[in-house]
Amino acid sequence: MITGKNYIGNQLSAQGNQAGKTYKTFNPQLNIENPLIYTEATKEEIDEAVNLATKAFKVYRNVSGKKKAEFLNSIADEILALDSQLIDIYCSETGLPQGRAMGERGRTVGQLRAFAELLNEGSWVEASIDTAQPDRKPMPKSDIRKMLVPLGPVVVFGASNFPLAYSTAGGDTAAALAAGCPVLVKSHPMHAGTGELVASAIIKAAEKTGMPNGVFSNLNSSGIEVGTQLVSHPGVKAVGFTGSIRAGRALYNLAAKREEPIPVFAEMGSINPVIILPHALKNRGEALAKTYAGSITLGTGQFCTNPGLLLGIKGDALSSFIQNLSDEIVKIEPSCMLHPNIINAYEANKQKALSQADLTVVADFDNQVKSNYARQTITTVEGATFLKNTSLHHEVFGPYSMVVQCENKEQLEQIISKLEGQLTGTLIAEKEEVSDYVQVIEALQDRVGRIIYNGVPTGVEVCPSMVHGGPYPASTDSRFTAVGIHSIKRWVRPFSYQDWPDSLLPDELKNENPLQISRLINNKTSTDSI
Ligand code: NAP
Repeated sequence: MITGKNYIGNQLSAQGNQAGKTYKTFNPQLNIENPLIYTEATKEEIDEAVNLATKAFKVYRNVSGKKKAEFLNSIADEILALDSQLIDIYCSETGLPQGRAMGERGRTVGQLRAFAELLNEGSWVEASIDTAQPDRKPMPKSDIRKMLVPLGPVVVFGASNFPLAYSTAGGDTAAALAAGCPVLVKSHPMHAGTGELVASAIIKAAEKTGMPNGVFSNLNSSGIEVGTQLVSHPGVKAVGFTGSIRAGRALYNLAAKREEPIPVFAEMGSINPVIILPHALKNRGEALAKTYAGSITLGTGQFCTNPGLLLGIKGDALSSFIQNLSDEIVKIEPSCMLHPNIINAYEANKQKALSQADLTVVADFDNQVKSNYARQTITTVEGATFLKNTSLHHEVFGPYSMVVQCENKEQLEQIISKLEGQLTGTLIAEKEEVSDYVQVIEALQDRVGRIIYNGVPTGVEVCPSMVHGGPYPASTDSRFTAVGIHSIKRWVRPFSYQDWPDSLLPDELKNENPLQISRLINNKTSTDSI
């Protein structure tokens, strides 16, 4: 049952009720508010949640990998047990279809189980042992052993465009809990009901598997105060965020200004450039136009990997491609966006782009559409205009894309090397023309976290080799991925023990290797005991 309350550790709480700090979610398909009322977390509740997390950390950091894996698997089971109740509330709060809700639930459960598997195997802590050499001359060498340890309580901001996979029990939460960090979720106001149900699953799993109270809290909010207070709180040691550059940067600056600055891992989306080389354009222009009309409008363009920028070299083939793309994209029925705020932002950002000098609208869905449905739009500009006017580089979150017509290969390379950091870059090419564009490809590699060959950027596979991140502003730290098991590395730090007695070492570093994990012993990887 959804109560509209916060989870402060295992307790439901709604102190903000008296102050009238309440709000409702919105059904964009029906264009009406949903009936349930949510109460924003108060300052006292936030303090209590952080204090509980700090206490919980003292216990949770020492919980074994096997027990934490049980916890994560139990969260996955409890999410599945919510069944249609979860799917129904998800759809009513997002306007997204059932199929998408079920797919995203599958991804969420899959992520939790993948981290459980990582913990059960155990080698992820990167244990490294350099044994002592007491007889070394001129100085004896100490015994030094290193492994990754958790940072402490982590704040996770739920993402509007992924109510399950990148919110309450999404990738950031799963990775932080796996690392040994308690999590405080700043629930996204647009899907507070989905958030509370998932939070109830996490709390149930925590109780069933004996995790300390405070290992997880879920805090409702309808404004920036709750997030601001959480990021400023001295008990919080790191932040995970997915959303706009404006908000991500504000949180990053806030965290940097603290007396003790903390890392903010913000994934802030991008315009995901797609380079279409001349031979590919000539040979497959029509098919590519169809494929890209689908990719631009997928999920109403509300994916961080949406292709917002297509680049080609001027000529008849590019002109035909623009025409075909325009013809194809208006054939696609407009679809519903997540919330009136998101569609308003889409329309406003699109108008800002359309008002720029020397930009031509080549496709605009100009028929009447239902409330909260987005009209897809394609524009085009000359390469020189794009180079001059950096406001054209801004993300228009929704089914919008711009085709840049470059004069030549040199201008294409210049544009790519001047682009802001991006999550993805795509190369559409015939094999034989690739060698002529090596410098363009290298420029693209410098600007992105993932490079795609003859495909579309939408669709992020969750697997160990995936990089979902990239140079700023795609993310605040390009050394890490926000997707896949390696995203755990955001929530840990390396820690060394020097000459520490074996009995006092964590199991991962003990001589007999009781966990049978893979370790680097005197520079050689092995599962041997010492
Ligand atoms: P958002 O504006 O980035 O906000 C995300 C969360 O951050 C919200 O819960 C918000 O809290 C909080 N927040 C915003 N500004 C803050 C600040 N200055 N200090 C502390 N907290 C702050 O994203 P959104 O609301 O999900 O969507 C708005 C726009 O973000 C979209 O239209 C789109 O342009 C962009 N977006 C991009 C991506 C992507 O992957 N590229 C994904 C999602 C959204 P409150 O809501 O409680 O105020």
